[in-house]
Amino acid sequence: MKIDKNSVVSFHFTLLNGEGTVLESSTGSEPLTYLHGAGNIVPGLEEAMTGRTTGDKFQVTLPPEKAYGTRDEKLVQRIPKDQFPDPARLQPGMQFQLDSPKGLMILTVMKVDDSHVTIDGNPELAGETLTFNVEISEVRTASAEELEHGHVHGPGGHHH
Ligand code: ZN
Repeated sequence: MKIDKNSVVSFHFTLLNGEGTVLESSTGSEPLTYLHGAGNIVPGLEEAMTGRTTGDKFQVTLPPEKAYGTRDEKLVQRIPKDQFPDPARLQPGMQFQLDSPKGLMILTVMKVDDSHVTIDGNPELAGETLTFNVEISEVRTASAEELEHGHVHGPGGHHH
């Protein structure tokens, strides 16, 4: 069957950045499984999946707008150190999760000085042109319950 709005798709992928460096790969582990048409993967990849079928292999290169978005410099902020629970432990590269009105945000510590911490709320891959090498391993029809929840159940999906 071809991938359309009510499909559950399992696929293997290798993700490369603009320089051709491999950032992530599912090779050697379980394929990624998602509900097509529910915005569970980046928009450009979801578009490229439409109409494909089991066994298809393809490569797609996405500008930031079709991947993790462009960088928003307003999401880079300097915050007084004393607003953190354990300021002595702060160091560049640390990440925090924050429940925001727009969903879960990951904040990355960029810089720590005597009084302030610079944090970046942009997704790690914002502003990047990304290439996905994809191989589709399975396409099935979503259950009514999966469609209602907007995500996949069972292997590779939610268990609840
Ligand atoms: Zn569910």
